[in-house]
Amino acid sequence: MIECFSQGDSAGLINPFFGDGILHALKSGQIAARCILEKTQHDYTRAIGREFKTNFDAALKLSKFFYQWPKFATSMVFAVQAQRGLQRG
Ligand SMILES: Cc1cc2nc3c(=O)[nH]c(=O)nc-3n(C[C@H](O)[C@H](O)[C@H](O)COP(=O)(O)OP(=O)(O)OC[C@H]3O[C@@H](n4cnc5c(N)ncnc54)[C@H](O)[C@@H]3O)c2cc1C
Repeated sequence: MIECFSQGDSAGLINPFFGDGILHALKSGQIAARCILEKTQHDYTRAIGREFKTNFDAALKLSKFFYQWPKFATSMVFAVQAQRGLQRG
């Protein structure tokens, strides 16, 4: 039987807020290789979830907030930047 593992972009492993995916592509490849070596292919989807779910869920919440109120969110980013600038002196 031929088994396939979707990884990286093809598995939808793109951070919903930042849009980055290189690290997820590499990590999902590593997880697939480990599952093959340990003969735990059935656990691949769950292992991917364990690796990325918390991070992606948080990023999704953040992106919903930002895209719902883009002006407010952008002004918050500028306010934080300004405050950091003041703290540094
Ligand atoms: C403009 C832009 C900027 C980005 N900037 C960042 C960044 O700063 N940081 C970050 O982390 N991510 C960034 N990303 C996202 C990142 O590039 C992807 O998430 C990452 O490359 C996904 O890797 P991958 O291996 O899943 O897919 P890919 O890198 O797309 O690799 C898939 C490969 O498969 C090949 N292929 C497709 N179909 C077939 C076929 N039928 N037969 C054989 N080969 C095939 C393709 O030619 C390609 O080489 C950016 C993306 C874009 C478009």
